[in-house]
Amino acid sequence: MNCLEFRRQLGVDPLSSGADFVGHRQECARCAEAAARAVEFEAALRRALNVAPSTQLAESILLAQATQQQRGRRIWIRRGGLLALAAMLVLAVGVGMRVEASPLSAQAVEHLRGEPEALTLSQPVPAESVREAFAKRGIALRHDVSGEVVFVGCCPMGRHPTVHMVMPGNTGPVTVIYVVDDRAKQSEDFQRDGWRGRSVPLGNGTLILLARDSGQFDRIEAEWRTALQG
Ligand SMILES: [Zn+2]
Ligand SMILES: [Zn+2]
Repeated sequence: MNCLEFRRQLGVDPLSSGADFVGHRQECARCAEAAARAVEFEAALRRALNVAPSTQLAESILLAQATQQQRGRRIWIRRGGLLALAAMLVLAVGVGMRVEASPLSAQAVEHLRGEPEALTLSQPVPAESVREAFAKRGIALRHDVSGEVVFVGCCPMGRHPTVHMVMPGNTGPVTVIYVVDDRAKQSEDFQRDGWRGRSVPLGNGTLILLARDSGQFDRIEAEWRTALQG
């Protein structure tokens, strides 16, 4: 298993006990670190979402407040305690929802950050591998793209199935992520964490382009429009 495969598996199941997965984690310090972060995040999320049934916590908050405050104010305090608890619940649910509901553009930047190796590749992959990756996602390409593709993978991105590619160019590599199951309402250019991006509704999904420089976006968008729609 290489770093890229490891990161992909990490996205699917950070607690995987597969021999390849465990083996790579032991050999590769950077991936081990990423795995530790993922496990910690998972645990934090679980802790946050587990607040709900905790009457004991409610009682101890109320008790702590009650013993510090004067008797006459207790009713107010009690309500304050419950409000604090309600706020914690809202926060916990909010944390859970944000993971799911963050926009595709944000998920794409996050995905790219998890697979930095993809941007360092330079060997072109055969057009057939690109066709196969789309076929695996249930999509028959009408045409091959004429631009070079140096990386292709059927990566999960959050809950979305995607085809993730990298196309090199004279102003730096362009990441191309086709989100198979979620069609954006409209085309949009965006900037996020130093990345230029574009998302384009195409077919039943959304094509997302990310690069440091957006100069090649028009050409690459046109190529994928032809490839996917004919
Ligand atoms: Zn690694
Ligand atoms: Zn990927």
